Amino acid sequence: MRYQHDFLVLGSGVAGLSFALQAAKHGSVAVLAKRGRSESNTAWAQGGIAAVLSPGDSIESHVKDTLVAGAGLCREEAVRVTVEEGPARVRELIEMGAEFTRDETPSGYHLTREGGHSQRRILHAADMTGREVERALLDAADRAGLQFFDEHAAIDLITSGKLGVAGYARGGGDGGDRALGCYALAKNGQVDVFLARVVVLATGTYSAPAGGLALAVLMLPIVVLTAEEAIKAVPRITRDAAYGMGCTRSQVAWKVLLPTALPGILTGVMLAVARAAGETAPLLFTALFSGFWPFDGGRPQVMQPTASLAVLIYNFSGMPFENQIELAWAASLVLVLIVLVFNILSRALGRSRI
Ligand SMILES: Cc1cc2nc3c(=O)[nH]c(=O)nc-3n(C[C@H](O)[C@H](O)[C@H](O)COP(=O)(O)OP(=O)(O)OC[C@H]3O[C@@H](n4cnc5c(N)ncnc54)[C@H](O)[C@@H]3O)c2cc1C
Repeated sequence: MRYQHDFLVLGSGVAGLSFALQAAKHGSVAVLAKRGRSESNTAWAQGGIAAVLSPGDSIESHVKDTLVAGAGLCREEAVRVTVEEGPARVRELIEMGAEFTRDETPSGYHLTREGGHSQRRILHAADMTGREVERALLDAADRAGLQFFDEHAAIDLITSGKLGVAGYARGGGDGGDRALGCYALAKNGQVDVFLARVVVLATGTYSAPAGGLALAVLMLPIVVLTAEEAIKAVPRITRDAAYGMGCTRSQVAWKVLLPTALPGILTGVMLAVARAAGETAPLLFTALFSGFWPFDGGRPQVMQPTASLAVLIYNFSGMPFENQIELAWAASLVLVLIVLVFNILSRALGRSRI
């Protein structure tokens, strides 16, 4: 099928729906979601939304807290826009019908204090804030007449560059490469074509470093515990002999303890890698998935959704296509072999321990 709209929004989370509701005032809008329209990170967000809402709080204090918590990584300009516009955006959500937890304080809402915030400024709807925000946005979207296409996974953008036609720039001129729409794989296996004057990507953000960090957190306890045990296993007499020969503490640590305990430490690392290799859940929220390694101009794009065997198995095993299910089985076999190799390696390294 081929669809034509004024605006095409990829993603039905808070970002996509917020844009789509504004765009609906200017033309027809199609919103795509790769699964159900209410299935997004937005719906899982629990804690709440930080905004200056109580009389005792101030924009400057919120900006300062954010910059301190960001430890030099935040762009102050971006922080200011977010903090200054926060209260108005929250009021919009309330006007749309979002019900946040109330109390008797001057703001009328039960504001909590979390993380690096010096004031109570976290607005929440019990512990299901995202679900309530998503519900209110979807209700507003229905009232505004947005057209939803759920179970439609965008698989490629249609661009002027790919079609070999000139780009379009507001006010004329050559706008260079420009998005004109997308191809989307529907649940029935059909690829639909969506064309629009404006294409907005609001598909959330996922990256390889985020996935790596999530797995590192899982691996850390195993590595630390095995390293501790391996170091404890080095006989006291070995250390005493080194001290007796006049070695300093750092020489004993680096030249005696560490080399002796190294096979045990490596065993722990191998076991941790083998354990993390099969992890799917943390990657779904951090690295998401890509069917290929993301490259741009030959350079790897680590800040893009990333290929991983565990998520491939999870995604493809539920697909209606025989070849993808077979791929999932093949990937499972590869994964089991990787885990087996790491286990054999860890045993081999562990055997050479004293
Ligand atoms: C467990 C959890 C708790 C959180 N708690 C908080 C919190 O307390 N406070 C807070 O501020 N933030 C929290 N967050 C973060 C917050 O949920 C996200 O930052 C926010 O929801 C991102 O919104 P979004 O619209 O950009 O993306 P999402 O809500 O992730 O929406 C992405 C949309 O894109 C669609 N999509 C993706 N790929 C495709 C494709 N190829 N084709 C078509 N559609 C596609 C999806 O179907 C979905 O509709 C939490 C997140 C999680 C997971």
